[in-house]
Amino acid sequence: MEQALIFIKNAKRYFKKFVEIKLNCLKKREGERDVLERVVEQVLSKVDIVDVVSMYVPLKKVGVNFRALCPFHQERTPSFYVSPSKQIFHCFGCGVGGNVIHFVMRIENLTFTEALKVLAEKAKIDVEFSQSQSAKDRALAKQKEELISLHHDCFEYFQRQLYLRENIDAARYILKRGIRKETAKQFGLGFCPENNNLYELLAKKYSKEIIDKSGIFIERNGKNYCRFEGRLIFPIFDTMNRVIGFGGRIIDDSRAPKYMNSPDTLIFSKSKVLYGLNIAKLSKEKDFVVVEGYMDVISLHQEGIDNVVGVLGTALTQDHSFLLRRYKNEVVLCLDSDQAGKNATFRSGDILYQNGLMVKVMELENAKDPDEYIKKFGKDAFLLKKQNAMFVIDFKIKQISSNYDLSKSDQKIRFVREYFEKILMPISNEVERQEYIKKLSQITQIDEDAILKEFTKNENIKLKRIESIQHFKQVQQKSNLTEEERIKKNDIDLLSIYVEWANKSESIRNAVTEDDFCTEDIKILFSSIKNLINEGMELTYSMLLTFVDDEKVLSELTSFSSKGFETEEAAKRAIEELKTNNNRMLWLRREMLEAQKRGDNEKVLKLQMLIRKIKDGKEGI
Ligand SMILES: [Zn+2]
Repeated sequence: MEQALIFIKNAKRYFKKFVEIKLNCLKKREGERDVLERVVEQVLSKVDIVDVVSMYVPLKKVGVNFRALCPFHQERTPSFYVSPSKQIFHCFGCGVGGNVIHFVMRIENLTFTEALKVLAEKAKIDVEFSQSQSAKDRALAKQKEELISLHHDCFEYFQRQLYLRENIDAARYILKRGIRKETAKQFGLGFCPENNNLYELLAKKYSKEIIDKSGIFIERNGKNYCRFEGRLIFPIFDTMNRVIGFGGRIIDDSRAPKYMNSPDTLIFSKSKVLYGLNIAKLSKEKDFVVVEGYMDVISLHQEGIDNVVGVLGTALTQDHSFLLRRYKNEVVLCLDSDQAGKNATFRSGDILYQNGLMVKVMELENAKDPDEYIKKFGKDAFLLKKQNAMFVIDFKIKQISSNYDLSKSDQKIRFVREYFEKILMPISNEVERQEYIKKLSQITQIDEDAILKEFTKNENIKLKRIESIQHFKQVQQKSNLTEEERIKKNDIDLLSIYVEWANKSESIRNAVTEDDFCTEDIKILFSSIKNLINEGMELTYSMLLTFVDDEKVLSELTSFSSKGFETEEAAKRAIEELKTNNNRMLWLRREMLEAQKRGDNEKVLKLQMLIRKIKDGKEGI
């Protein structure tokens, strides 16, 4: 108990210092003092990054760290790491990294303060944020909040309209489509009458700017019309159950287009939203069923199939696969049965599969879409179809082979070529690939070894091309760093070793001094941290990262630290290298020239000595 008290006292004292450092280093983040004082430290000490990340991606323990498929770029082999001891993440594929706050910022597309708010809520930390956001953050967050509130008001308005006597046609339409009252309520369906006064109602509460930004209205001849007039309304919810957009369907088939969606806004993006996911994410099923339309989602849910989500009149995107992957590893595609639907299945299947999901494909005969199918044949028939769903690669093979007459040898050759490119190439798992080479041999009656030989030849050419592109990119990235950035990176690397080791090793504590840093803000950061450490405080790595705004620097800092140094000796050697490498020498020489120009002889002398010392040291080795 007593120890706990001492700890709290220390933590408080330490945190005051922490805020000072932060304010010293990042003067540009005006007004964040309150946030930091109250929240950052508590969030970072109460929230475990492993818990948070695993809400979005399944983590697998590998040694002392956790590994997963990166949620920020497309990959089939995991290169995304989370370190529970340092409370940081880093992806060796795309380079992103940071602490838990950075993670939430990125994955939920939030500002610093918004992410902090989400995490504080999770950790049940009660705070008042309103005064503490930076001006830009605050303005954006306020607009988003207002848009959410405006959408909620519209949602309630539309819902009320649906049950009014004068709008009985809309209610009749719902009945005609076989939607029961409870289902309509569950999905919050509504109606937008013609010549309504919605704009005027909203104008009493919201500014013109916000109403315009909602994308709900269209201006015509100086008057504002709701774009959904005369349409049945499908509110679109995000995973936190907030209405962020609408879809509207005409009820008398007299005009086009049949469906209309909200345009992309500050809070809504078609390529990042799946209709019904707010409900389907709670399903106990191990997979999601992905369909095309609002009515498909609603009909299937009504029949008790509660894991269905819909894409909103757009192709399935990588962001969609990330969204699905947050909750489940398996997806069954059940798109429309026309040619457009088949093509979409092909593409969507590829995207989902490339992003590490297990993908199956359902084909529905004698119905144009799942809505019609379940009405005609019932739930059991649908579930049986789902049970017999084909693995996506088998579906692709079926589609491709249907275009060729394999009894003719020229067509057979072309088929093999397409099979190489569309089936075998994208498979990165060796076992799976063997399986599909065997299959090709069965289909074409060509010897397995011959296929393998030809394919390997083909692939090597392609692989070399990819490798050289990647190599080029890496080289380019490295040389893209300006001299200033290289020097800054040097400083950061040095600082990060210091932070990691200073509490554990006295000699490392003494080996690094203020003079070893080149960049002014990192120098200040270092001396404040050094003071803290000398006072016996423990500065965690993830807290250090909160100081860093720059994404490139964050990436460096997390990637460097995930490698880490196992022994004190290795850390010392790295420090020596950083203090004396070319970047550092270059900087010292430049500083000396500038001092000479200024006539600052004292500084020139000091720098000359330092340079000589480094040179001698190097020759000594
Ligand atoms: Zn990545």
